[in-house]
Amino acid sequence: MKFSHKILLCSITILAAAFGFGGFFFVNYVFESSMEREIGQAMDDSSILQFALETAALNIPSKYDVLHDSTIGQIGANLEGSQNSSLLRISDEKLQTLYASEGFVEGNDFLSGMEEQTRVYRVIESEGRYYIQTGIITDALDRSLYLETMRDVTDVFSERSQGFTVYRRLTFMMLICGSVAMYFMSHWLTKPIRLLAKAAGRMTEGDYAYRAEQISSDEMGQLTGDFNRMAEALEQTIRQLENEVRAREDFIAAFSHELKTPLTAIIGYADVLRSRKLDEEKHFLSANYIYTEGKRLETMSLRLLDIIVTKRNELEAGRVDVEQLFSFIRDMYSEKEEVKLKFRYEQGSVWAELNLIKTVLLNLVDNACKASDPGGTIEISGKRLEEGYLFKVKDHGTGIPEEECKKIMEAFYMVDKSRARSKNGAGLGLALCTEILKLHNSELIVESTVGKGSCFGFLLRYEEVKDHEVET
Ligand code: ADP
Repeated sequence: MKFSHKILLCSITILAAAFGFGGFFFVNYVFESSMEREIGQAMDDSSILQFALETAALNIPSKYDVLHDSTIGQIGANLEGSQNSSLLRISDEKLQTLYASEGFVEGNDFLSGMEEQTRVYRVIESEGRYYIQTGIITDALDRSLYLETMRDVTDVFSERSQGFTVYRRLTFMMLICGSVAMYFMSHWLTKPIRLLAKAAGRMTEGDYAYRAEQISSDEMGQLTGDFNRMAEALEQTIRQLENEVRAREDFIAAFSHELKTPLTAIIGYADVLRSRKLDEEKHFLSANYIYTEGKRLETMSLRLLDIIVTKRNELEAGRVDVEQLFSFIRDMYSEKEEVKLKFRYEQGSVWAELNLIKTVLLNLVDNACKASDPGGTIEISGKRLEEGYLFKVKDHGTGIPEEECKKIMEAFYMVDKSRARSKNGAGLGLALCTEILKLHNSELIVESTVGKGSCFGFLLRYEEVKDHEVET
């Protein structure tokens, strides 16, 4: 059963119960009040008639100081004639009727055993009509007489049954109107739930960008907002996972491709060496090919290992004086004469892992060397900025097309594959730098113009204590 139908059913049940009980108690309350009033009236009538009977008995001439049955009958007739609200009956001490109005009900057993001066009453039904019957023992001269009255209260009973009928109709009408109103209300109240269910369904089908429409600001609206935020987070995670899976697939594809080229060369040249007798020069060339391609494979596997280790490792950072880094590069390239290195840097210290930052700088300088013509100049600089210490490696070499600048950070990506391979490149250096800088909460900044050269930079945060010492 739908939730809106459940709300509807509950509301109708509550409405029916409320109207049913409410109506019953209301009509009954009115009836009881009317009955109380009628009983009071019947008791008053009885008192008046008692008083009138006693007075009439006293007014009988003194020579008749006994009250005969016939006289009592006469008094009864007179009393009845003097009023028309109640029927009356007068009975003697043995409950023998001396006078009774026409239509007075038979039987007066409810009077037997009653005490004097006590007025009693009962409600009786006779031939479809309802009466309040009262009774009292009254003294008239020498006699004790039973005086009974009967007041017609049929109207009160018919008002009650009319009240019930009207109320039943009213309840029925109200239930129909209430059901229609509740149907629309429950439909309107459960709309946010339907919208949420629709959104959940769409997301299950793979439409992660679908969001539930928020139509109110109450608890349901808040729930929709929370649901949408959860969907947002879920979508981001899924996109991230998809990107990671795609990146991994690209990585595996590029890796197998990069393995294939040197392996084909190695197998090919090894086959030539084992199957044919070559002259000394060709023998050397073949062996040299196998050696260089093998070396390339070795470099590639070492770089890959570095990337994997860097990805998994926690940073063991400490205070690093930038002088250590620049001197290391200077020493590494002191023997190489193909390029000129120009250093220009400010003193300072950064918070980093020394060996990892050395690897980054080495890779950047190495790439700059590969991109530069023989005799080219590479500028290595360091500058203190407010946000951190900025390292830059600038060359005046081939440069990188703008659209390639982002891709060169991906593993195995090389702008000019044959040139890169000929220089022992595998497209892994910058991917490694990116991973290392990520560990330092930093990233590579690339500026490059084709034909003019490139500039690679990155920012490292300061080692706070040393900074303070330097400034003072
Ligand atoms: P590798 O140098 O081993 O090929 P990298 O990841 O270090 O791999 O570099 C990826 C590619 O980016 C290089 O193959 C090259 O095409 C390009 N590149 C990197 N640095 C420079 C640079 N300074 N000038 C021009 N191209 C560069």
